[in-house]
Amino acid sequence: MQLVTPPPSITDEITLSIIVPVYNEQEMLPIFHHYLAKVLSTQSDSSFEIVYINDGSTDDSWNIMLNLDSHYANVECINLSRNFGKEAAMTAGIDHAKGQAIVLLDADLQDPPELIPEMLAAWRQGYDVVNMRRSARLGESKFKCWSAHVYYRLLDYLSDVPLQKDVGDFRLLSRRVVEDIKQLSERSRYMKGILSWPGYKQTTISFERPERAAGETKWSFIQLVKLGLSGITAFSIKPLRIATWAGALISTSAFLYGFWIVIKTLIFGEAVAGYPTMMLIQLFLGGVQLLSIGILGEYVGRIYAETKARPIYLIMDKEKNSMMNAMEKKHG
Ligand code: UDP
Ligand code: MG
Repeated sequence: MQLVTPPPSITDEITLSIIVPVYNEQEMLPIFHHYLAKVLSTQSDSSFEIVYINDGSTDDSWNIMLNLDSHYANVECINLSRNFGKEAAMTAGIDHAKGQAIVLLDADLQDPPELIPEMLAAWRQGYDVVNMRRSARLGESKFKCWSAHVYYRLLDYLSDVPLQKDVGDFRLLSRRVVEDIKQLSERSRYMKGILSWPGYKQTTISFERPERAAGETKWSFIQLVKLGLSGITAFSIKPLRIATWAGALISTSAFLYGFWIVIKTLIFGEAVAGYPTMMLIQLFLGGVQLLSIGILGEYVGRIYAETKARPIYLIMDKEKNSMMNAMEKKHG
């Protein structure tokens, strides 16, 4: 894809790395890259690197990314050995980015690249983190918008780390924040939490999240629920405390109720009645117990995954579409 204006000189010092996780985005990749290149071509005072991470796509995404134009930015292509999920793909990108700052971007143009200059300007003013808040989500179902709204607030309440509401993975991070994040080696990677954990000087820019430009969302309802649960268990132990408090409350009530039964039997004698009450209490207690065991199990499962200490992702190939390569390809 040729663009009209001449390329800026790309030095060893990269200002910004743009990290793009890609899973089955063959329709989107050329459109996305062209659009991004157009935005970057207006920023001649900075040098860029785009890190595409192919997260085990089953379509032609890998071959397409290898041939993307590298006039306005170095293009790094990383091929994971299978589909590890968006969180792992972003981690691979963060580990490989060389820029003084990084931006995480979806390949479907739902995170508008034209906001990059504004994000860079905020970073130049001295902010380490530029959060991009979704003031509206276009083209998404009412249920998804509502559940996301409730979930962000619930997670913020439960989490011990302050999390920004309605801010997704789309954000800019300075080099020192990236270095700190690289030290968080946990396997259960809830990126919205991990990215918020270091803190530093933050600012927020609001934007309307557009519809996906092509292709389909890669998340099923069940996957979203799983991601949501992993966010809660990775950043809070409050559910365990809630189970403890529920246990304490129920035992106290049971004790008081038992006391009342003893007194009642002593005064009025014993009548064989109360089957509904008994059933109700048994079912209620059974439910609370199973739920508490479930919560406990979620955390034990996390410990299990952490103790195995497996790598978060595996890289099969790494290619660079540098400016030199582009010239060589052109001249045979
Ligand atoms: N993605 C990925 N691995 C996955 C699922 C998604 O790398 O297993 C990428 C996908 O290609 C896109 C980004 O993550 O660039 C966001 O995915 P999607 O648009 O499906 O999510 P949504 O916007 O619906 O939350
Ligand atoms: Mg999307």
